[in-house]
Amino acid sequence: MYNNNNRNRRDNYNGNNRNNRNNRNNDGPFRKRNYQVKSFTKIHKETDVSNYPEILENGKLRVIPLGGVEYIGINTMCVEYGNDMIIIDMGFGFPKDKSNGIDYAIPNYSYVKENLQKLRGVIITHGHMDHIGAIPYVYKELGSPIIFAGKLSSELIREKAREFALEDDLRLQEVTSVTKYNLGVFEISYFRVNHNIPDSMGVIIRTPVGTIVHTGDFKFDLTPYREPVTEFAKIADIGAEGVLLLCSDSTNSCKMGWSDSESSVTPDLTKLVNEAKGRVITVTFSTLITRMAQIVEIAHAAGRKVVMTGRSIESTVRIAKELGLIKVPMEAFVSKEDARYTPDEELLIMATGSQGEENAALNRMVTGNHNDFDIQTGDTVILSSSFIPGNENKINDVIGKLAKKGAIVYHSQMMDVHATGHACSEDHKMLIHLCKPKFLMPVHGDYVALLGQKTTAIKVGMPAENVILTENGTTLDFDANTYQMAGKVDANQVLVDGFMMGDITPEILADRQKLGNEGIVVIVVGSNDIYIVSRGFIEVNENQTHIDAIKSIAKAKIEQGNEQVSQAVSQYIAEKIGRDPIVITVRR
Ligand SMILES: [Zn+2]
Ligand SMILES: [Zn+2]
Repeated sequence: MYNNNNRNRRDNYNGNNRNNRNNRNNDGPFRKRNYQVKSFTKIHKETDVSNYPEILENGKLRVIPLGGVEYIGINTMCVEYGNDMIIIDMGFGFPKDKSNGIDYAIPNYSYVKENLQKLRGVIITHGHMDHIGAIPYVYKELGSPIIFAGKLSSELIREKAREFALEDDLRLQEVTSVTKYNLGVFEISYFRVNHNIPDSMGVIIRTPVGTIVHTGDFKFDLTPYREPVTEFAKIADIGAEGVLLLCSDSTNSCKMGWSDSESSVTPDLTKLVNEAKGRVITVTFSTLITRMAQIVEIAHAAGRKVVMTGRSIESTVRIAKELGLIKVPMEAFVSKEDARYTPDEELLIMATGSQGEENAALNRMVTGNHNDFDIQTGDTVILSSSFIPGNENKINDVIGKLAKKGAIVYHSQMMDVHATGHACSEDHKMLIHLCKPKFLMPVHGDYVALLGQKTTAIKVGMPAENVILTENGTTLDFDANTYQMAGKVDANQVLVDGFMMGDITPEILADRQKLGNEGIVVIVVGSNDIYIVSRGFIEVNENQTHIDAIKSIAKAKIEQGNEQVSQAVSQYIAEKIGRDPIVITVRR
């Protein structure tokens, strides 16, 4: 599952008012983006790519996770044999280092680009952004490959492509869990899984060397909400036939027991909505389509009209409604205008911002910066989402603000208002028993999560040496019985900021970090005088002694005809104040 809310910030960027973007309403009109796509640049140099992979030997099967292991998000994997190559999922994520204002990180497809004549197609497991989000950024550079995706995933990809004005280039082939086709030597088929977005599928790839099973994101849910259960029989059949490699979702591998069913949240959600006296505000990720379907249906049954706020929620609910995944009449919804005249006890507001994101609807409502809604005494707010590690402070901050405004807040730590979408340890054990793979490669997780799945696999009898913990970019070359880590391809993330990607160098990142941590001093040298301007460093008016000293150092250097004004000032600041701002000299 991937939190898509941060995307809104960019969706509202109108190209000339960047400073105000945090104040913008997410619900603004749709704007096409015009990305200026630069070529790939190596961003992080810590990975040694000098150990370039051996040429793929005849008769060997190469698997390369280009993203999705070591850290969360950016799920993508490359499979290659002879003259054929396929990609499974093309997700984006947040950069693994401190973000420094970087919007997204996407996979590095340099290796694929070098072998573009081999690329036969892209297989999408489900419609979450950590599995489809990179498509618009790299699609044309990869020669507009044919994409195979389920119905809902296809719609979500189309929606993304429209945003990027790519819909004319898009080659999409809709598939279901019974579709079978060949891509070069690869025979592709599917098995349905449960997750928290409908239409999630695992992929079976039969190759001349052996069969790969890729789960996508999954959990085993025996009582899924309004969708069919995982196709266990297909997994068992392929297990009986023989599986060379299982690539399996590790996100929740450190959670013991079975994953909770999506239906397990229905009773508590229903009770809260039915018993609320005033308005109900539900907050969830726009990507949890199954949850949103539940909420809309519960609200409708309780006689409440649903109003949505947050562009991502509006578009996903519209698509889900069009595809019949949300089963209520159109009258179940109300526009924001009409919501103002709907009695409190007949209204449910569906909003984004479950992680306390500054720019999402919930935070804007509670801080009075929302165009349509605020928080009032008697509101019932339900956070139907997880507390993603690292976001706890922001979430607690929002809960505190809600409480001060008189709202009653329920969240997943108090009641069953959220169920995870990812397999836990017992799900993994069952999968391994059904699938009986020779090798297991945990994917979709940081190293702790990958290791968690390895531990589980060993518990159910897999030899430790057959569980492959790998890194992004490592090439694994298989024959029918063994594999070799044959080398490394460039898998350094490509960073996307604003309308450009791949241009953020390590130097720019270092400058951003230094500006944020130490501030900036500008020495403006005029014909008769020197001015000092500073931001984020010291208050100029209250530190006249230092400012005078800086001026006289600069003056002396200039009189000596010495160009190194900034260096001399930096040295003074380091010695006398113990700080290290960026210092630049400007001559007027
Ligand atoms: Zn995912
Ligand atoms: Zn997912």
